[in-house]
Amino acid sequence: MKKRISREMVGISVLSIVISIILVAAVFYRLFQEQVIEDLKTDARILQSAAEMTQNRLDYLKKVEEKEKDIRITLIDREGSVLYDTSADREDMDNHQGRPEIQDALENGEGWAIRRSDTMKENTYYYAVLLKDGDVLRLSKISHSLWSIYGSAVPAVTGAAVFLLLICFGLSHYLTKSIVNPIEEMGQNMDRLEGVTIYEELRPFVETIKKQHESIIRNANMRQEFTANVTHELKTPLTAISGYSELIETGMATDEDIPRFAASIRKSANRLLTLINDIIRLSELDVNRETEMEYLDLYRLAETSVEMLQVSAGNRNVTLSLEGSSCIVKANKQMMEELLYNLCDNAVRYNNRGGHVDVKVGHEEGRPMLEVRDTGIGISKEHQERIFERFYRVDKSRSKSTGGTGLGLAIVKHIIVKHGAELKLESEVGKGTDMKVLFPVCDKKSD
Ligand code: ADP
Repeated sequence: MKKRISREMVGISVLSIVISIILVAAVFYRLFQEQVIEDLKTDARILQSAAEMTQNRLDYLKKVEEKEKDIRITLIDREGSVLYDTSADREDMDNHQGRPEIQDALENGEGWAIRRSDTMKENTYYYAVLLKDGDVLRLSKISHSLWSIYGSAVPAVTGAAVFLLLICFGLSHYLTKSIVNPIEEMGQNMDRLEGVTIYEELRPFVETIKKQHESIIRNANMRQEFTANVTHELKTPLTAISGYSELIETGMATDEDIPRFAASIRKSANRLLTLINDIIRLSELDVNRETEMEYLDLYRLAETSVEMLQVSAGNRNVTLSLEGSSCIVKANKQMMEELLYNLCDNAVRYNNRGGHVDVKVGHEEGRPMLEVRDTGIGISKEHQERIFERFYRVDKSRSKSTGGTGLGLAIVKHIIVKHGAELKLESEVGKGTDMKVLFPVCDKKSD
């Protein structure tokens, strides 16, 4: 990048120097020509009045010629014949009437012309004035052409151009460095940009990178934390299994102990299975695979889930009921079953003896709605935001003793996001919890 900017800057400089030289030369040359014509005009006018006053015009012109060697004087009569010329034999000179400066002088009193000589090196400048008696007096002067002026100026111009180029090289190097350095510095200090100057134009880019960077770090931390949690969760039941089986193996367990120990082993093994199932489920949901959607009757699915949980609710002396009517949603069947099961199961497990769980399926503002309301222990404000995190539990021992893994609501959250749904949570400690899921409006209505 540095090389490219530097190269382009030098390129632009070279181009501007060349264009400037050409333009300056053109303007300067034009001024030079105007000056030569202007000088000739002044001389011609002086000679005009002198020639008109003198008796013997030719003698006078000869005298002038002796003094003024650079200027050629020609006298032409109105027919174009040369009456006098300083440098050539007038007999050899052709008729001058056709020359533009003579024509102008005959018509307008004055005229001028510039003609290039054969060699290209010189130009001849002419200025002609009409005398009172009808003759035309013409002065001419040979001067350098553009190319010869250029030729003599080449060393000076080249010197100046090289000098300018050197300055441009130095400046472009310095400027490139000062433009690119902050970007380089920014790239090297992406994770701590506090003291670094950032270009305003690059700010959105930096913000995006920064966000991505933070999100990568956050994800890495979450993954690390999740792995540590999984390991920890697996360790407890495995230690129990290992301990009880060792007691049986070494014969340290009495015959009466064995059924109890076997039951504990089975319980721990079951716990491991549910844990592993939830972990696998979460990692499946983590993968951004296309979710297969179909039109489902949410009420039917709720009936099944409520049915399935009736035993568990009965064991806890909790009344579980369902109300509402057919309600079509576009959703994934397995995910809807998991959503219903997890919400209803929690409402039963975190309930009090004699409590209620009311499941309601219907519509709210045209959107399919599922509501699970319980009269359980409730969730305090500070925990409400965090219960959807993996392995976050308000009361760890209650969760474990009721077969919880701490992953149920994390799975629920994933499902909600995948369906573009919204979850509203209202809860008060000691009074109960209300979880309401609102699905996007469904174009298919129930029959
Ligand atoms: P768990 O397997 O522990 O139930 P969840 O992810 O389903 O895990 O829930 C996380 C935590 O949220 C639970 O441990 C519990 O403390 C709290 N919780 C969830 N649902 C309810 C509810 N209906 N009433 C009270 N607390 C709840």
